[in-house]
Formats: sequence, structure tokens, C-alpha cells
Amino acid sequence: SGRASQEHAILAPFLSRLHSTQASAQKEDSGFKGHDMLAPFTAGWQTTDVNPLIIERSEGSYVYDIDGRKYLDSLAGLWCTSLGGNESRLVAAATAQLNTLPFYHSFWNRTTRPSLDLAKELLEMFTARKMGKVFFVNSGSEANDTQVKLVWYYNNALGRPDKKKFIARSKAYHGSTLISASLTGLPALHQKFDIPAPFVLHTDCPHYWRYHLPGETEEEFSTRLAKNLEDLIIKEGPETIAAFIAEPVMGAGGVIPPPATYFEKIQAVVKKYDILFIADEVICAFGRLGTMFGCDKYNIKPDLVSLAKALSSGYMPIGAVIVSPEISDVIHSQSNKLGSFSHGFTYSGHPVACAVAIETLKIYKERNIVEKVNSVSSRFQDGLKAFSDSPIVGEIRGTGLILGTEFVDNKSPNDPFPPEWGVGAYFGAECQKNGMLVRVSGDTIMMSPPFIISPQEVDELISIYGKALKATEERVK
Ligand code: PLP
Repeated sequence: SGRASQEHAILAPFLSRLHSTQASAQKEDSGFKGHDMLAPFTAGWQTTDVNPLIIERSEGSYVYDIDGRKYLDSLAGLWCTSLGGNESRLVAAATAQLNTLPFYHSFWNRTTRPSLDLAKELLEMFTARKMGKVFFVNSGSEANDTQVKLVWYYNNALGRPDKKKFIARSKAYHGSTLISASLTGLPALHQKFDIPAPFVLHTDCPHYWRYHLPGETEEEFSTRLAKNLEDLIIKEGPETIAAFIAEPVMGAGGVIPPPATYFEKIQAVVKKYDILFIADEVICAFGRLGTMFGCDKYNIKPDLVSLAKALSSGYMPIGAVIVSPEISDVIHSQSNKLGSFSHGFTYSGHPVACAVAIETLKIYKERNIVEKVNSVSSRFQDGLKAFSDSPIVGEIRGTGLILGTEFVDNKSPNDPFPPEWGVGAYFGAECQKNGMLVRVSGDTIMMSPPFIISPQEVDELISIYGKALKATEERVK
């Protein structure tokens, strides 16, 4: 569809033009011939025609490039550096652990103190429902791959070998390993990679503004989506559906908070057919939405939870899966029969990553991070949503410290700008010129600043956004 092609359009033609002067200057001046990295989520031409933006240093809500240019980091790295760029306590925690025990693993009932302490802390912190155990991984993708293996193992143990399919949502982002990219509902992550895997089904994206029918209320929209989910389950056979996975607020798919009553209705359907609910809290957890977890905000009672990113403020790669007591009990008895629970990674529960995560969680508590987020979030949300009247803005949406902007023509979700205009890319480049980094995905812009962002920095963010918007409006006119 036109919509799909808009999302996946690589904005190379426009960006090429945008950077062509810079690129040829680079070629003459520095003999730039591209770099040696196969860079994630980067087009080939970008690595041969344009010098990468090389970030060298960070401080609070800002990052600095190798030429000393300062940028407000409106995405907190990749939605992760919640405590900003230079939290010395995290450095101290890492250093202390490196000096004591830089590495030991957690296989065969050997483990380390930091991993035990962190597991205990996470179980105490997660209160949406009582959980049983924590499994450590190194990323959000590994967390979601682990979810699939845990669920299969669980259903095999229960003698339900056919209950293996997963339902995710269109525009979901769950990672980029084989299984997590299959769960992801963004065609760009599937194209030419021979995924999604056949056991993954996708149901509706809960984006009210884009997909509601004329006259349909948010509640009616949610009812329809829950009905569609139920129809899909019945069509496939409930005995074949193992789990449903969802981000409380969709992140990389464009920052899409759920419509009213959505999770209430979806959970009722999932429960009815004995389907597990996996909450992918990789972006939402630890305060991002103004609650400690996304599950708290939307009254989600998950069976399994995925965590990463702000778990360590992004300072060390670490993720975690929290498992309900019912599931962990089944896993325990099954592994007793088999001799071991044969899943895990060398760096599962890495002591340095765990030590940093423990300190991160300590800081969240001491500084009352949820209140801190709530103290600036209306300034952030209201300040940016005030631009909603712009003729090129379709929707500005978000909650807490996460926000998405979608550019369209005629204020209509059905009138995308021609991808080759690169409207989103132009806005992103204008932000960068004015000292701020945003995430651009087609004509959707995403922001999720560090939790420590000050009111003054929020004002600066809004001001740069306003300037970039004005420049983009003029360009599009
Ligand atoms: N799940 C969600 C909701 C995410 O936003 C991401 C990354 O952005 C992932 C999973 C994958 O995490 P990672 O990049 O650490 O593998």
C-alpha cells in the first residue's frame, strides 16, 4: 500500500541532495572513502558518501561530536540513557565491580552477588502483579527471543505441543534478532531477511488517529481491535496460539499510546483463550511514561515482561525477562526432568552490568524518578503539542517523556507527503543544525529525552523543535 511504502522509503535521494555539498567537500578535503563498519539501520550510501556523525562525549542531556558541537539528545541515545550522559555513580559502580570481579557467569548454579541482588530488586519493584523469577540477557532482542523459548518450553512441559504461535502487532518493535525481528511488525525489518517466521502473526496497530473509522470513538475502536484479535485467534485455533506480545506504548513504530480501554479489552480476549501476555517494557519501564512500569499505567497483568535500556540507563548492555510464578514453576519441574534448563548466554547476569543496573535502580528510588518525570512531562507534552496546528503536522502524540510527531499533507492520515520530499529527514536535519538530535523514521519524528532533563532544557528542546518545524513548513509550501 501507499502507506507502507511511505514508512519504508529510505530517504536516500533527499538526504543525498541535502548532504551532497558536505559530502563532496569531505571527499576533497579529507579523502573520505567511507568507513569500515557495517552500520546498523544505515543505508550503504550513507557510509560511503557522508561522514558519520561521530559522538565523542556526553554530559547530562547533551552529547558532543568530535568537532565539539553540542546536541540536546532528545532520544536519550536510543531511548535508554535515562540518567543522562555522565552519571558518576554508575561509573563508580562499574569501576568497583571491575576491580572486584569483572566477570563470572551464572551457569550450573554458579553465579555472582550482583545478579542475585538485581533479580531480587526487580521482583520487588515490579508490582503490577506478583512475579516469580528473573532471567538475565544482554539486550531487548535477547529478552524477546528468550520469551519465545520460555513459552515454547512451558507449553511443551504442559503437553500442549501445538500451542506455539505468537501474536504481535503491526508497527510493533521487539528487536532485530531472528525471532524478535519476526515479532516486530515493521516490514523494513522483514524485507529480504526471509522473516517473519511462520509462527508469528500480526494483528492491528492500535493507532486511533490513523486507523479509526469515521465517527468511531476510541472505546469503539478498541472494541473493534479486540474483536479482530479474537477473530484471528478463532480462525487460527486457540489451541495453536501461545502468547500475545505488546509494548504498553509502541515506541519505534512511531510512539503510539494505546486508545482508551484497549488493554482492558485485549487482556480479556487473551485470557479467555489461555494465551500468555508478554509486556515488552524495553522502552516504557522505569518511569518513561510517568509510572514505574507501563503495566502500572495501563493496568496490564502480564505473564512475562521484557526489560532493557533504562535498566542500566544504557551504560551497560543488559536486559531481563521477568517470569510469573506459574511459568517459573513449570520451567523448574521440566528442567528437573531434563537435567537442566539449557538456555542462557555467557553474559547473562554479567556482574558489571548488574552492578550498574543496581545502582541505576537505587538512583531512581532515591531521586524519586517517577515524580521527577512527572514534574517536567506536562511542560514537554503541552509545549510540543502546541504545534499541532501546523499545516504539515498530522498528529503529535505521547505521554510522560515520550512523544511522536507525524507529518502529513492536509492534516489527513491518508495524505502522506511523497517520500522523495523527505519531509521528516528535512525536519531532522534542521534539528541537528540547531543543536538537537531526534529520531527520524519516514515522516515520523520520535523523542524520549533523559529522565533528568531540566525544565530549561525542555524549553530549549521545544524552541529548537519550533524552529525546525517552521523551516520545514517553509520548505514544503
Ligand atoms: N523491544 C522494544 C520495545 C524496543 O524498543 C527495542 C529497541 O529499541 C527492543 C525490544 C530491542 O532491544 P535491543 O536493541 O536492545 O535488542
